[in-house]
Amino acid sequence: MHDLLPEDMHLWHRFEQTIRDVFSAYGFNEIRVPVVEKTELFARAIGDATDVVEKEMYSFVDRNGDSLSLRPEGTAGVVRAVLQNGLLYGAPLRLWYMGPMFRRERPQKGRTRQFHQVGAEVFGAVGPDAEAELLAMAQRVWRRLGLDELRLEINSLGSAEERAAFRTDLHAFLSGRKNELDEDSRRRLDRNPMRILDSKNPKMQALLGEAPLLHDFLGAESLAHFDEFRRLLERLGVAYVVNPRLVRGLDYYCHSVFEWVTDALGAQGTVCAGGRYDGLVEIQGGKAWPGVGFAMGQERLVELMRMQVAAEAEAPHVYLVMAGQGTVEDGLAIAERLREDVPGLRIQSNLGGGSFKAQFKRADRSGASLAVVLGEDEIRQGQATVKPLRSQEAQQQIPLDRLADWLKDWFKQAGPGMAGSC
Ligand code: ATP
Ligand code: MG
Repeated sequence: MHDLLPEDMHLWHRFEQTIRDVFSAYGFNEIRVPVVEKTELFARAIGDATDVVEKEMYSFVDRNGDSLSLRPEGTAGVVRAVLQNGLLYGAPLRLWYMGPMFRRERPQKGRTRQFHQVGAEVFGAVGPDAEAELLAMAQRVWRRLGLDELRLEINSLGSAEERAAFRTDLHAFLSGRKNELDEDSRRRLDRNPMRILDSKNPKMQALLGEAPLLHDFLGAESLAHFDEFRRLLERLGVAYVVNPRLVRGLDYYCHSVFEWVTDALGAQGTVCAGGRYDGLVEIQGGKAWPGVGFAMGQERLVELMRMQVAAEAEAPHVYLVMAGQGTVEDGLAIAERLREDVPGLRIQSNLGGGSFKAQFKRADRSGASLAVVLGEDEIRQGQATVKPLRSQEAQQQIPLDRLADWLKDWFKQAGPGMAGSC
């Protein structure tokens, strides 16, 4: 368990405010559910043979003999609350939550026993439009926070019947290689062989390279769902890669599963994970309402924000691109004047020449938010081209005698520690 220290709170607040703004723009409403629930709620929803239920829950017996647990995740409690309060009548229902979760795992970098999740759930939507919009929403959060290096991996787990057929094949394959399995995997082999696919052990991952693929067991309906999911992501501009070995650690998933991952955090690189859980509401005693959702790991995302802020603190605000006859002479002089006129503005001039293309590459690598471009045309027309490097905004022509004022305004708005707007 860990403390959240005052020096980090501004990052937590910024993250949480961004969540509220973005989620409400998609019609999601917040729900707050208890931190403690009956143990059987989690056992039933998450699955008896999962790591979470088998060995990670903080459970205790209440004075009247009930077994209670600190919540290890948010979805089970939200489903219970939705059923208990009759909220499904407004389906499709869009809800989000935020708060601490508890799992007795081996503590390591990016993995603690109390951690915080933000989650979003959509109930009552059968089609992959729900998955696609959820992921567009997550992507908008990353963009607002300037986290542009996250990679989306997706896969399909198919229906329960398809998974059962796959499970039989997988079990046969793994039983044949039993002496190569690590201790964890051997324990899982008979109880829950699909969990072995989620092993973090590189040796297991190598072995699994030869295992049967779930994709080969999918029927026409599941394939159609997955194809439509991919088509919608493409249409919404959400880039993804299919990872045919992606499974989820909790039992309730079917069809679409996905993870947003980063290479910047070492081994614990998943910052948001989720998928479709059509059977879960029924397991909890409701009708067969479909559901889909995700949970973000707040500590890992705040860590990425911290790294981003540190990188921005070093990066120039403006990279000056100068290509063509006479542009360096004028450009360096203009840069000098701008440093006088806009206090605090960090301008990195391109030194050593190079084509526009080569200079833009350097500009990008510098981390600058803006490129100010001076070519022969610009000098002749007495203006500069200003090109945002970290957002989709259009470039603009600014007369040279107004450039200092324009940058002053931009600097005031973007602030010294911001990588441009979104
Ligand atoms: P993993 O495979 O890394 O154990 P998981 O499948 O258990 O992840 P989920 O239950 O899907 O993870 O949780 C969603 C997200 O919550 C994770 O991607 C991660 O960012 C975060 N998370 C999960 N467990 C922890 C933990 N013990 N400490 C910090 N963050 C966590
Ligand atoms: Mg886990």
